[in-house]
Amino acid sequence: MVNFQKLKNIILSNNSFLITTHVNPDADAIGSEIAFYQLLKTLGKKSFIVNHSETPYNLKFLDKDNVIRQFNLDDHSDLFNKVDVLVALDFNRSDRTVSLKKSFEQSKSIKICIDHHKDPEKFVDYEFIDTDYSATGDIIFSLIKETKIVPITKEIAEPIYAAIMTDTGSFRFEKTTAILHRKVAVLLEAGVNPTEIYDKIYDQSKFSKIKLLGRALESIQLIANGKIAYMIITQKDFEEFNAIESDTENFVNYNLSIENVELGLLFIELKNGFKVSFRSKGNIPVNKLAAEFGGGGHTNASGARFFEKQMNAEIIKLILSKAESYVQ
Ligand code: 5GP
Ligand code: MN
Repeated sequence: MVNFQKLKNIILSNNSFLITTHVNPDADAIGSEIAFYQLLKTLGKKSFIVNHSETPYNLKFLDKDNVIRQFNLDDHSDLFNKVDVLVALDFNRSDRTVSLKKSFEQSKSIKICIDHHKDPEKFVDYEFIDTDYSATGDIIFSLIKETKIVPITKEIAEPIYAAIMTDTGSFRFEKTTAILHRKVAVLLEAGVNPTEIYDKIYDQSKFSKIKLLGRALESIQLIANGKIAYMIITQKDFEEFNAIESDTENFVNYNLSIENVELGLLFIELKNGFKVSFRSKGNIPVNKLAAEFGGGGHTNASGARFFEKQMNAEIIKLILSKAESYVQ
């Protein structure tokens, strides 16, 4: 349960805010930041958005005022102490902020976290976390609806819609309920155009992304009697197609579109280390599987990042063998 009254009080009793989100931000991360920024702007508060990663090109349209900044120590480290409140959106462990982790941790400002992931680390003063919500943007919507802190304008409704649409797999995952559709109806009434938002996020891919997808699909292997499918993308693939990490968003889901597959993995070699995305059907808790490697997430969608380790056949084999113990 999120204590919306308390969250409202923190917002109203402070004047300056620094909002941040996780590495490789998705539409829930960016959408929640923009919605929260707009909420604060409406109240006349001073706020900043500073992230580790650049905003993926297909999400830049959400940042209409061009306020999101990419963190660098010289420009932003002071800001972390100057503002009254640090706001962590859509993540629950400080290492998900990568380069700004130290500035976040060392800051003496009030720290709050609004999130819907499992197994939070204790890294803030006030948690507004509930895993029942479909998206962090869904929590921000409920804050506004329940406390009436600001009106739901189109500027706020659009990023919230983007957050919910994407985190529910375009309204098909488990948390797509009648209640959620009623909330989304309010967003549409505020002027959101669902055709336009979907098109901007999913149907304006760079050609490089589609070529990389082709390579990822080609790499699919089945193991565990066809219950596990995995893909591998290497740095060489990125270079060949001039693609970037955020281009891989959603690739992992293709694994689950194969009949009988219950657990899908995507291995992505990064410039520094590698990452693994895990997806599952039903009750297979891939957040637990990811946690075995220092990662986390949701029951059916999780990930882990390895900053120091090289991606190689041995570590892939180890992760796959752990994955096998999750499918019977
Ligand atoms: P994705 O595979 O799309 O990057 O991430 C899927 C889910 O797992 C997201 O909800 C994300 O927050 C979580 N996740 C991805 N990578 C990590 C990680 O390195 N650590 C933790 N704790 N969660 C992660
Ligand atoms: Mn989310």
